[in-house]
Amino acid sequence: MVLDDYARHEFVGYDSLEIETRVVKYRKVSAKGKDQFQLVLEVTPFYAESGGQVGDTGTVQLNGHTIQITNTRKENDLIIHFADTLPQELNGEAFARVDIERRQHIALHHSATHLLHAALRQVLGTHVAQKGSLVNEEHLRFDFSHFAKVTEEEIMDIEKIVNQKIRENIPVVIREMPKEEALQLGAMALFGEKYGDMVRVVIIDPTYSVELCGGTHVGATGELGLFKIKLETAVAAGVRRVEAVCGQQAEAYMTDKLEQLKEIGAILKNPKDIKAAVENQVQEIQALRKKLEGLENRALVGIRNELLQKDQIINGITYIADIVEVSGADALKKLCHDLSNNLKDYVAVLGANVDGKP
Ligand SMILES: [Zn+2]
Repeated sequence: MVLDDYARHEFVGYDSLEIETRVVKYRKVSAKGKDQFQLVLEVTPFYAESGGQVGDTGTVQLNGHTIQITNTRKENDLIIHFADTLPQELNGEAFARVDIERRQHIALHHSATHLLHAALRQVLGTHVAQKGSLVNEEHLRFDFSHFAKVTEEEIMDIEKIVNQKIRENIPVVIREMPKEEALQLGAMALFGEKYGDMVRVVIIDPTYSVELCGGTHVGATGELGLFKIKLETAVAAGVRRVEAVCGQQAEAYMTDKLEQLKEIGAILKNPKDIKAAVENQVQEIQALRKKLEGLENRALVGIRNELLQKDQIINGITYIADIVEVSGADALKKLCHDLSNNLKDYVAVLGANVDGKP
């Protein structure tokens, strides 16, 4: 349904997170047995999913109703807002408001992606190019070209650089400029991406990070608080993936890790050096296992001799059946092997209780 065909469509979400507006178009779509509504607003603060950054969520208030916006996407240059339900009447003043807290968490992770990108190039080399990214309120994912696994040491260097840039509280400067000028500044552009003559450039210290980018960002890097890489994996030949968190999510991640360490310490009766204590335990277990193996080998000889005395010979064939006490399948196998070396024409049926399980 078109309510106003001549309305302008404008995105104001770089500067405003709420605004008075109107619904100019809407439609119902059914997919997988579920009805969904799509809205177009005259002006909107909602960021549509793009460049790896997820779409905004929030509310549109209209005629006393609150419409929950569950996602925002672009379609043929129109910004489409998704809703599960709509009121009957859509004419009149509407008030659109982005979920501010979620948007802030997304902005943190987007700015962190730029800091990470520059740090990767510093530590691994300038062959590192962005191959894909996902930025949401929970974390960031960054895929890039690189042919080897990123080592623990490199990860630590990358984190160190990003956290240093966070502490420097560098202002994030965003400028519109001709594409040529941006490229002269050394702006990193995505290969294969189409850019207009005028481009949006995100500068976090002109000597550190300059990128062409349409995403939403923090005002200064200090807002990120803390940056932590959670995971480094391969996604394809020559493409690595880093997953990282910052802000509250990084704090929660670190708290969780420290909590685990504390719990391990408690299990080990709080030694001064947890790592040394764990290493000691592992060594002790290995030594005990060896000792046990030696003892069991001796015991197996005894069990074998007992079994050989319990045999019954029927029609020239030796029958042995018993339940034995051994440590596991390996010991049982060893016992059978040992029996076969001592017998000819025989049938042996052995059962064992291992850790109380037959
Ligand atoms: Zn970006």
